[in-house]
Amino acid sequence: MFLSPCLSKNEQGHLTIGGLDVPALAKEYGTPLYLMDENLIRETCRAYNASMKEHYGKDNFLVVFASKAFCAKYMYRILAEEGMGADLVSGGELYTAIQANFPLDRTYFHGNNKTEQEIILALDAGIRRFVVDNREELLKLDALAKERNTVADISFRVKPGIDAHTHDFIQTGQIDSKFGVALENGEVMQIIAEASKLSGVRVVGLHCHIGSQIFETEPFGLAAKVMMDLIADIRAKFGITIDELNLGGGFGVRYTEADHPVLIDEIVSVLTDAVKESAKEHDLELPFLVIEPGRSIVAPSGITVYTVGSVKEIKDVRTYVSVDGGMTDNPRYALYEAEYTAVLPERIEAEATETVAIAGRCCESGDLIGKEMKLPPVKAGDLLAVLTTGAYNYSMSSHYNRVPNPPVVMVCDGKAKTIVRRETYEDLLKNDI
Ligand SMILES: *Cc1c(COP(=O)(O)O)cnc(C)c1O
Repeated sequence: MFLSPCLSKNEQGHLTIGGLDVPALAKEYGTPLYLMDENLIRETCRAYNASMKEHYGKDNFLVVFASKAFCAKYMYRILAEEGMGADLVSGGELYTAIQANFPLDRTYFHGNNKTEQEIILALDAGIRRFVVDNREELLKLDALAKERNTVADISFRVKPGIDAHTHDFIQTGQIDSKFGVALENGEVMQIIAEASKLSGVRVVGLHCHIGSQIFETEPFGLAAKVMMDLIADIRAKFGITIDELNLGGGFGVRYTEADHPVLIDEIVSVLTDAVKESAKEHDLELPFLVIEPGRSIVAPSGITVYTVGSVKEIKDVRTYVSVDGGMTDNPRYALYEAEYTAVLPERIEAEATETVAIAGRCCESGDLIGKEMKLPPVKAGDLLAVLTTGAYNYSMSSHYNRVPNPPVVMVCDGKAKTIVRRETYEDLLKNDI
C-alpha cells in the first residue's frame, strides 16, 4: 500500500494525517468527513514555485492554481500567502476569491461560456486576464470593456491538437473539444486578426491545457513547442508580440499503486526547456510563463472518511460495502470510473485480502466509489477511508437525494480546524420557497 506524504500510522495501528489520529478526528467531527493536510498543500505550492524559479527565472512566471479542483475561501488564503495565482471558471469561484481577499491581479478567468454578468463582475473586480474561448465572447468582452472605458488584457484558449494519452472524457487538447479555438484549421489566426482590430481588448497571451491526470512529460514538451511556434507565426503574420504563454495543468497524481506520477521538478524542467529552446530557435524573447496545476496541488493532501453501514455478501457474485457517503461527496467513479485506494483507518496494517465494491447511499446503482477495491475484512461500524480525495471531490459534491455535504477539516501543525462546516438540513432548504 502507498501512502501520501501527509499520511502515516501510529502506535495503535491507526491511520494518521498530518500526525493526527484519523479515527479520533472521525469521532470528533463525525462521518462522512473530508480531511486535508495544509502543510502538504503549502509544500506542493512551494515546490512548483521553486522549480519554476530555478528552471525559468525569478520574476518571469506565475503558478496558478485551478480553483475547480478545490474552491473554498480558506484555500485562497493559502494560495495568497504562497505567492500563487488562481484560475476561475465561474462567477461563483470569482466571488469566493473576492470574499477571501485574494489578490485579483493574479487571477485568470477561463470557461467556454462566460455570461455577460460574469464578464462584468470580472471587469469590475480587475482580474488579471480573460482567457477568451470563442468569437462571441471576444465581441461581448470588447463591447463591455468599451462601455467601461477600459481595455481588457486577454489570452486565447488554443487547441494545440495534442493527444495526451488520457481518458477521453478528460481530454481537451484535440480539435473535437468544446474548449477554445483550433490551431490546425486556422481558427486561431482568424480570431487574432479580428481581436487586433478591437479597442476594448489587448491580446497579450496564449493558453492551452492538454488534458488531466497525465503521467507522461512528452505531451507537455510538445505542447510548449507547438505554442511557441504559434507565437512566432503570429509575430511574422501580424507583427503582434505575445508576451505570455500559459501551458495549463494536468499533472497526474497517485490514486492507486499502478499510478506513477512524474516529479514536479521534472515536469517543470521539460516544459521550461521546450520553451527556452523554441525561443532561441525563433529568436523570441522568453514569454512570461504560466502553469495551472489543480489536482496535483490538493489531491494528495486529502482523504475522505466514512462509516460502513452494511456489508452485503452476494455469494459468487460480489460483496457490497455500503458507506455513509458516495457519489454526493465523490462522483468521480460515477462520472468516469476513476480509481481510488481505500483503507481501514482503525487497522491500517491489516492485509487487504478481500475484493469488494464500495457503494454510496444514493438511489443509483452506479453510486460507487469503486467496483473492485481491495480491502481487509470489514464489518458494519468500521471506519473506511478513501485516499487522494483532495481534488475534485468537495468541489464536485452534489445534493442528490438531499444528502448534505460533509465538512472539510484542515489539519495543520498538529491541530485540526473546520474550514467548511457540515451542511445541515436547514442549509438544504435555504432556497426553497
Ligand atoms: C482543469 C484545468 C486545469 C487543472 O487541471 P489539473 O488536472 O487539475 O491539474 C488547468 N487549466 C485549465 C484551463 C483547466 O480546465
